[in-house]
Amino acid sequence: MKCRTFFSPDMSTYILLTESTLKYMYAFAQRKWNQTEAGGEIYSTTPYSPSLVIDGVAGPHRKDRRTRHSCNPDVEATTKARHNEFARGRHAVGLWHTHPEPIPSPSGQDRRTTEEYLKSFGDDRDRYLSIIIGNRGEVPEMTVWSMEKSGEWQRWAEFDGQTVELHTHLS
Ligand SMILES: [Zn+2]
Repeated sequence: MKCRTFFSPDMSTYILLTESTLKYMYAFAQRKWNQTEAGGEIYSTTPYSPSLVIDGVAGPHRKDRRTRHSCNPDVEATTKARHNEFARGRHAVGLWHTHPEPIPSPSGQDRRTTEEYLKSFGDDRDRYLSIIIGNRGEVPEMTVWSMEKSGEWQRWAEFDGQTVELHTHLS
């Protein structure tokens, strides 16, 4: 298994998801018809850095309300998980959840939820991330989005580790 890196559209910021974080999320991929959506929050020790390492993940929680096409987190458990991570020096920087589709695209509700979380931080966050895990492939497709303070909803591009290709994009 490998780490995965995603860049913001203006290339000013990237996130790196550690192997253990990815492994944790992949385990909930909705590969079977009867698997419900799962999700929670993601955490970083450096929430304001332009190179954001995401090495903490929580959820799903026992009392979440989950169906094949929705996931409503238990607020109490989510808050508790956030405090636990905070005690370890990690700050919530976004959300993750699974989708029962190969290439996961966010729903209107996903976008609204991300916006609500961002607003709940007041001036403390410039953006909030939303990671969605697909349901096919040994390494599932995943898409990364952010709700910016400006109200913009952005898609982040995965960096595949080949510098030659990155240069092509930049020129
Ligand atoms: Zn969704």
